[in-house]
Amino acid sequence: MARKFFVGGNFKLNGTKDSIKEIVERLNTATLDPNTEVVIAPPATYLDYTVSLVKTPQVEVSAQNAYVKGSGAYTGEISVEQLKDVGAQWVLLGHSERRTIFGESDEFVAEKTKFALDSGVKVILAIGETLEERKSGITDQVNERQLSAVLKLVKDWSKIVIAYEPVWAIGTGLAATPEDAQETHANIRKFLTKELGQEVADSIRILYGGSANGKNAPTFKDKADVDGFLVGGASLKPEFVDIINSRQ
Ligand code: PEP
Repeated sequence: MARKFFVGGNFKLNGTKDSIKEIVERLNTATLDPNTEVVIAPPATYLDYTVSLVKTPQVEVSAQNAYVKGSGAYTGEISVEQLKDVGAQWVLLGHSERRTIFGESDEFVAEKTKFALDSGVKVILAIGETLEERKSGITDQVNERQLSAVLKLVKDWSKIVIAYEPVWAIGTGLAATPEDAQETHANIRKFLTKELGQEVADSIRILYGGSANGKNAPTFKDKADVDGFLVGGASLKPEFVDIINSRQ
């Protein structure tokens, strides 16, 4: 099954009205590969604003996080209902910064994933191992553990995109090689095949994330199980367009 190439931009805790306007206007005016699905994730403060700026249906907007309740006494949180209300169609869950800095467990990420999907918001689910885990040779086990928590709660994976993001590659300038990424992605797909069957596993996009940029993105082109990128730092720069167009 042909999987549509997908490029996500995670702005993290970066941006102002001015800089976000510049990024979105670049996407509005650039020639984007029509075969690439593009999703940008600004800080929550700017979701509404970003949605109002986007002028092309090819670009959708994602939150970087959302809570497991629709509303209520949860100071500081945002809900998927609110995301839908401002026109955001996606939420990024399980990012390693949420897992490590904010202590989000596999189970909590799974709960959030189920809640978002049940509420009609699509999910970019980030997984990946730390450097210590990689050195210990347990990359696949870590990915499978993180996925298993979600598999326990979620049966329909049609609205999930997986982002494999080795923690040691995020924001370090040290991207995984295309060969290493392909090997890990193939193992993830093998695991998904065992859990969900061949047809479903073949339909799930698995993105690579971790220091992807305009230069290295084309080197992943012939890797069969790399279905796109989740981009942090480079999504704030003009080279984001080169990543979107890197399959051409
Ligand atoms: C990310 O934050 O998801 C990410 C991949 O960051 P960077 O591209 O900056 O490594």
